[in-house]
Amino acid sequence: MVKCSLCRRNEAFYFRRYSGEYLCRKCFAESIENKVRVTIGKHKMFETNDRIAVAVSGGKDSVSLLHILSKIEKEFPKSSLCAITVDEGIKGYRDEAIRIAAQNCAQLGIEQTTVSFKELYGFTMDEIARKTREDKLTPCAYCGVLRRRALNIAARKVGADKIATAHTLDDEIQTFLLNIIHGDPLRIARSGPVYKLKHHELVPRTKPFCEVLERESTLYAFVKGISFQEMPCPYAGEALRNDVRNTLNRLEEKHPGIKYTIYGSMNKIRQAMEKSVQKTPLERCEECGEPTAGKICQVCLMLRKLRSL
Ligand code: SF4
Ligand code: ZN
Ligand code: ZN
Repeated sequence: MVKCSLCRRNEAFYFRRYSGEYLCRKCFAESIENKVRVTIGKHKMFETNDRIAVAVSGGKDSVSLLHILSKIEKEFPKSSLCAITVDEGIKGYRDEAIRIAAQNCAQLGIEQTTVSFKELYGFTMDEIARKTREDKLTPCAYCGVLRRRALNIAARKVGADKIATAHTLDDEIQTFLLNIIHGDPLRIARSGPVYKLKHHELVPRTKPFCEVLERESTLYAFVKGISFQEMPCPYAGEALRNDVRNTLNRLEEKHPGIKYTIYGSMNKIRQAMEKSVQKTPLERCEECGEPTAGKICQVCLMLRKLRSL
């Protein structure tokens, strides 16, 4: 039997290739929880009396994050945790995920608020995907913009000081490379573990999982017996992101630790860019009144287009 490199007592069930450690189930789970604690502290993600809204979709990363934050939050009696879920309106997929998200919230005694695309925008994601079949923007491009707004509205509704999303290290480096591939490197300055653009109606977004590998977030859910939705979204076919994901996984397989190296480079580039990229102050959108960098926000532009189709 191979023993755990940390406690040197229990049988190891996982070999963490990037660190060379053999880990037992208990030490593995604790290592993820501690990684999240360190990330939160390092980036000063929360204040001790924050009301934190966790964006819970029902997928593996978001339910794992909910369980870990619920554990950590108990150490701060003045803070509180709630869950916000966005129902994009994807038949046969999101309804199942919402049920699983609700189960996890009930199990942890966390209050959950759901907002839907249909009630906020008048369209479900299924309707948007049908209308934009000929469009050069993918369904995910619409979904991402509309979901960010929906999360902000839901977070304001529940009086949250911060939103915590479950973006993993894999999501972060994929987006970083996609920004370069798409010829949009200035967007790198707008990424990062804490969303820094300030406006009193924009609830700051944080990413406590930004240093956790997606693979290990899934493994955490398995080890802890957490239920999550396994079915992929029917629109998740963004070919380029999938190619980048597969390429990064192949690289990590061959060169363990390379994802962390890319993540480190991304942070250095972002910090250098933050000093030189001028930030446009946020104003109110002339149409909906929500915070935006231009005159009309991206959501209103998308809705205008959708209504005309
Ligand atoms: Fe939305 Fe795309 Fe995610 Fe599906 S895969 S939920 S369409 S962003
Ligand atoms: Zn151990
Ligand atoms: Zn608007």
